[in-house]
Amino acid sequence: MVLLLDLDKTLVNVEDYVDYCSAYRELESRGYVTGGASVPETYWGRCTLRVMAVLVALAGTDRWADASRIIEKYEVEGAKRSTPMPGLREFVRGTSGYRKAIVTLLGGEGTRIVLERHGIPVDVVVARRPDLRPKPHGDQVVKALELLGARPDEAVMVGDSEWDEEAALNAGVGRFIGVTNGRETHRFRTPYVVPRLDEVLRYI
Ligand SMILES: [Mg+2]
Repeated sequence: MVLLLDLDKTLVNVEDYVDYCSAYRELESRGYVTGGASVPETYWGRCTLRVMAVLVALAGTDRWADASRIIEKYEVEGAKRSTPMPGLREFVRGTSGYRKAIVTLLGGEGTRIVLERHGIPVDVVVARRPDLRPKPHGDQVVKALELLGARPDEAVMVGDSEWDEEAALNAGVGRFIGVTNGRETHRFRTPYVVPRLDEVLRYI
């Protein structure tokens, strides 16, 4: 079995330290906001959701990389102040025997800073990149499986968002575990839902 892990608000809280509203305004002022992406509802902040929807809408176009670079400036600043989610240490200890991939919507530089800052050991990292359609598409998950040399039915994916679950389903991953972080309403379809990261250990 291999583990596919979302990063933001699953392992580490990055979002609360990133000024996604300023990122969105900059995207808007440079004409990157086109609308038109159909994305799952989730509990992220309004600006975060809008920024991520821009990336989904621009996926596969030649404007994607520039938009991603604009967002990454803000993410890198947030990554330097990011904090561990409750239960991170227990989770890392409890999963030390498994091969792991990070599958994240964050850019590569922000991801690297977060993993280093919090000492999270992983085998594979698939951050957002121009040649893969971002979650909720399955492309990033498929790439992570390929790099791990594992089949979808050998994988368990863990994430805090409905976007993660949809990406897992789109890639044919056998099991998804949703971490609610205490929110009372969610739209997870999986029966494996836990309030806190370390409780994921019950289902793997
Ligand atoms: Mg997340």
